Amino acid sequence: MSTMQAVRLPGGSTVEHVTVDVPTPGPGQVLLRMRASGICGSDIRAIYREHLGHGAEAYQGVVAGHEPCGDVVELGPGVRTLEVGDGVAVYHITGCGSCDECRIGYPIGCTSPTRAAHGWQRDGGHAEYMLAEAVSCLRLPEGVTHVDGALVSCGFGTAYEGLLRGGVSGRDRLLVTGLGPVGLATAMLGRHLGASTVIGLEPNAERASLARDLDLVDVVVTDPADLADAVGDATGGRGCEVSMDCSGNAQARVAALTHTAARGRCVMVGEGGRIDFAVSELLIHKQVALHGSWVTSLGHMAELLDLLGRWGEHPERIVSHRFSLAEADEAYAVAAAGASGKVVITWD
Ligand SMILES: [Zn+2]
Ligand SMILES: [Zn+2]
Repeated sequence: MSTMQAVRLPGGSTVEHVTVDVPTPGPGQVLLRMRASGICGSDIRAIYREHLGHGAEAYQGVVAGHEPCGDVVELGPGVRTLEVGDGVAVYHITGCGSCDECRIGYPIGCTSPTRAAHGWQRDGGHAEYMLAEAVSCLRLPEGVTHVDGALVSCGFGTAYEGLLRGGVSGRDRLLVTGLGPVGLATAMLGRHLGASTVIGLEPNAERASLARDLDLVDVVVTDPADLADAVGDATGGRGCEVSMDCSGNAQARVAALTHTAARGRCVMVGEGGRIDFAVSELLIHKQVALHGSWVTSLGHMAELLDLLGRWGEHPERIVSHRFSLAEADEAYAVAAAGASGKVVITWD
């Protein structure tokens, strides 16, 4: 049997390079030759530094990487929806297939013990090859690159779902708190969905200037004390119709709520932590709708891939660092430093 290089994350901010067997696709599965594999904030938060997760976020020592994109090189028995040579992005969770969440296309919300996410409980994209369920593979439309596809698998999918939950349209001005990769994705997709003004809050100067240089935001604020003036100026004192927190930071979450307009929508996708805020002042009296949103559905992921092709937009514009699999140590160190755009492992 042939072997391949792969990466695991044992904790303690270390990367372990291992040699493992190339897997064989079983019924309903395909073997992908990996072309791009993103590093997500969750990999850093819950796996790389220390294994924090429970349940859906428990890391079980598998090949890491939950933003996989590759080419189909072998079909398992019974696979009729894909062909060898297809480029596919992978919805990174396989659910039980029959619970309420799975039935509506959200395996992310499946609570069955058989649910498994690539890079958490089943082997992920940080290897030369990966096994995937054919039903989790979404073909890349014309013009959408493998790096684009990898980014859609978690980060951009999460941003898109949050924007849909917030109902962003041309009627809205959008505030994004936290301009890490998901925040940058939110700003980029928010513009395409019509947001007339995009305002960003990001304390890290490098990330703030990346957002500005890529023209993803109209205004970016690095000092939270300046946000009230920036939002006030841009909205005539009204606030933003939609705000989305992509940071997980308590102050940033409160800032997002504070600067949401009356009858506006506030969406939280940044993970972890807790929040304490004045419920009457920020939520009840302003009649704000507060949404939590977690990753996306298979249907919305397919829709986003299609839209990217139609828009001619490339998520890979937010990639600041590309590394080979052999350089995964450096890739994780850069991602963990929190000053970069998106970090991706590629085989180009
Ligand atoms: Zn992720
Ligand atoms: Zn399920």
